[in-house]
Amino acid sequence: MCLKPPPLNNDCFALPPGVDWTPVDEALAMLRDRLHPVVARADLPVMSAAGRVLAAPLVARRANPPLPNTAVDGYGFAAATIGDAAEFTLPLVEGRAAAGLAYTGAVPPGHAIRVLTGAALPEGVDTVVLDEDCATDGAAVAFRGPVKPGSNTRRAGEDVGEGDEILPRGRMLTPADLALAAATGLANLPVYTPLRVGVLSTGDEVVPAGQAAAAGQIYDANRPMLLSLIARFGHAPVDLGHVPDDREALRARLDRSEVDAILTSGGASAGDEDHVSALLRETGALTAWRIALKPGRPLALGLWQGKPVFGLPGNPVAAFVCSLVFARPALRLLAGAGWDDPAGYMVPATFAKTKKPGRREYLRARLRDGRVEVFKSEGSGRISGLSWAEGLVELPDAAAEIAPGDPVRYIPFGSFGM
Ligand code: AMP
Ligand code: MG
Repeated sequence: MCLKPPPLNNDCFALPPGVDWTPVDEALAMLRDRLHPVVARADLPVMSAAGRVLAAPLVARRANPPLPNTAVDGYGFAAATIGDAAEFTLPLVEGRAAAGLAYTGAVPPGHAIRVLTGAALPEGVDTVVLDEDCATDGAAVAFRGPVKPGSNTRRAGEDVGEGDEILPRGRMLTPADLALAAATGLANLPVYTPLRVGVLSTGDEVVPAGQAAAAGQIYDANRPMLLSLIARFGHAPVDLGHVPDDREALRARLDRSEVDAILTSGGASAGDEDHVSALLRETGALTAWRIALKPGRPLALGLWQGKPVFGLPGNPVAAFVCSLVFARPALRLLAGAGWDDPAGYMVPATFAKTKKPGRREYLRARLRDGRVEVFKSEGSGRISGLSWAEGLVELPDAAAEIAPGDPVRYIPFGSFGM
């Protein structure tokens, strides 16, 4: 089965008239509103489904545990049949119950049976006493009271009932999810095909790693970074290479690409050499968003032959932050995964800062000894600060006066799926 969802609307990135600087939250709300899955559905064996996105909710075919069983090695009996005493000595029945080897007889009242972890409780057993709390000579078992009925046992379905919804549509499957699906009897999972995301670098001055760079040229830092980010986000990265500041070369490359979405870097402003925005504007489906964000603007969003194109800034620090803040949630929607606001934590700052009003700011940051420190420079050319960082401090759109010890919002890179 291979269902293809409908294409996106040509105006899906249009801004309301009169909008100039777009606050981050408004930009995110618009993406959230207008993007939907563009990937096909397929069934995959649970063994191969790690990291894939569920295309339908998963429903347990079988309860977990399927039968009442013992959580420990020990001795089982029916609590109601042994009365109340400080000490008990119960005769043992022959045989034992082990995981996968059901005991087929019934345990008579006042008797006990040897049970091993995971064994289904035999008829006549509802309570288990732990090995370490017992003495036995093979014919009888002795232990102290009081005995709590049901202790050391698991009820059938106490974890998951048959027919329960165990995971929602849009879930990006974790290793634990695969255990849950397998345990509840699911062998094939309905998932989306991976979102293929192309990465294209632009700019006459940009040279791929490994080639000779003349004075005035810079190495392509964005392409390896963005390709790897896409893989971390759970999608399929596609290297579309590099094109110079030449509109026809750019057009040809975009035309040839067999992908579901494209990230470009560079050329996203409104300058003479900004061919990404110029070309997208030509198709009539560009919005050049000037986002009230540091580091970040400009961000050009558009559709190329129905495929969403995210025109990221050329500056690697800005490209990185825009990828985390905008491209990541947008790509999740395209991939069929739900919207996801990254989890942040209020943590005392080690630093002081006076922040201007009117834009959101993200600082390269990391946690040390329960406090958050920021990179020594906010310079957006400092790629080394990205490597240094383990997360971002998010400062709200309004003005702020931060003193050491004040709580600030820290978002670890892990919250962005990295
Ligand atoms: P642009 O957005 O094209 O105006 O580029 C902004 C800055 O980012 C310029 O200094 C570019 O040289 C730089 N830049 C553009 N693309 C890359 C890239 N792939 N790797 C590193 N720096 C880049
Ligand atoms: Mg450029």
